[in-house]
Amino acid sequence: MTEATPLPLAQLTTLRTGGAPTRLFEASTTDELVETLREVWDEREPWFALGGGSNLFVGDEPFDGTVVRILTQGIERMPSPRPGFVRLRVQAGHDWDALVAYAVAEGLAGIEAMSGIPGTVGAAPVQNIGAYGQEIVQTLVEVDLIDERTGEVSTVPAADLGLGFRTSVLKHHYGSAPARRAVILTVTLELAEVGHGDHPIAGEQLRTALGLAPGEGVSVAWVRDHVLATRARKGMVLDDADPDTYSAGSFFQNAVVSASFARTLPDACPRWPVAPDLDPVLVIPLAAFDGYVPPPVAVESDVKVSAAWLIEHSGLRKGFKLPRSRAALSTKHALALTNRGSATAAELAELARYIQGRVQSEFGLILQPEPVLVNVEL
Ligand SMILES: Cc1cc2nc3c(=O)[nH]c(=O)nc-3n(C[C@H](O)[C@H](O)[C@H](O)COP(=O)(O)OP(=O)(O)OC[C@H]3O[C@@H](n4cnc5c(N)ncnc54)[C@H](O)[C@@H]3O)c2cc1C
Repeated sequence: MTEATPLPLAQLTTLRTGGAPTRLFEASTTDELVETLREVWDEREPWFALGGGSNLFVGDEPFDGTVVRILTQGIERMPSPRPGFVRLRVQAGHDWDALVAYAVAEGLAGIEAMSGIPGTVGAAPVQNIGAYGQEIVQTLVEVDLIDERTGEVSTVPAADLGLGFRTSVLKHHYGSAPARRAVILTVTLELAEVGHGDHPIAGEQLRTALGLAPGEGVSVAWVRDHVLATRARKGMVLDDADPDTYSAGSFFQNAVVSASFARTLPDACPRWPVAPDLDPVLVIPLAAFDGYVPPPVAVESDVKVSAAWLIEHSGLRKGFKLPRSRAALSTKHALALTNRGSATAAELAELARYIQGRVQSEFGLILQPEPVLVNVEL
């Protein structure tokens, strides 16, 4: 393992905030990563894994603990038991967009709509990354991970990771601990061998974003190019020359509310139904069964509402900033909080709280942050 000079996390995160940790380790092989994590966990100090730093909001004070930066690289191509598919086993530190570029160059489909998402492959399942209706859950087979509780490495199928909308059992949601504290070592995806020709694009959200008619065929390379161009227009591809990209992507999650609450919001607010949980199985002990089975109770599904719409309609325009602050909403995207230079985490947190307050007083709900917060509170 390599102990590095503990750089301020402002230099290692895309929101460009954060004090230095007490210790910083860098691991370039899986063996190094496993050995480092076991040693760090033996010390029982605070720690976290760092990939590309693109989904982290870190406070200004020094982090009193250890950061383990994952720099492992590599893609291994393997046969799949499904005809017409291949598997890619990818090291956790591999750059996500470099993986997408590789898949597209190989004529493999399944992740091309997620072109341009910053960060590492190992962090991708942590919040089940997604864009334009494609999510990693659709192609993820399994991960190799190391559990903090046991220190053991195991292969965990995707179905055991609790992957949902921008969440998994591994994600540190604001204000709570993850259900499973573990570090992903490798990620195995299963992709369709579609080649370089045109093929019909599945998914209405992706077709709409790309302006394609149902059944219209395009190549995976075409999808990648158009997604990258669309994302760049919204400041959603990292670009050192564009401060609108000095962000953690979407800072607030779309809010999931009850159907009755959603009816109190203006009709114009975009909303999407969330599939309800399946009804619990009704168990009637045989001794108590009198021949009557109650009818199933209809459950009204929850509704996901657009956080960007709520922000803009609480009177905050793109580019909004508080007086004298160096933090601002992106000029291209109302959900991205951006660092316009050397804003502190305190300035970004002040802006985030102001936005939450405006949305709450206008619409009665509190937006929740999407990035993982370290050493900072809202
Ligand atoms: C401009 C921009 C656009 C974005 N667009 C999107 C988008 O379209 N869709 C989307 O879903 N996200 C988007 N994001 C968010 C971000 O890119 C993703 O969440 C990405 O997967 C984070 O990867 P990372 O390596 O940077 O993770 P980091 O920020 O380094 O870490 C994020 C969290 O994952 C943990 N972690 C990191 N590596 C591992 C590992 N190997 N094992 C276990 N835990 C780990 C960290 O401890 C931390 O809790 C965007 C971000 C930016 C800056």
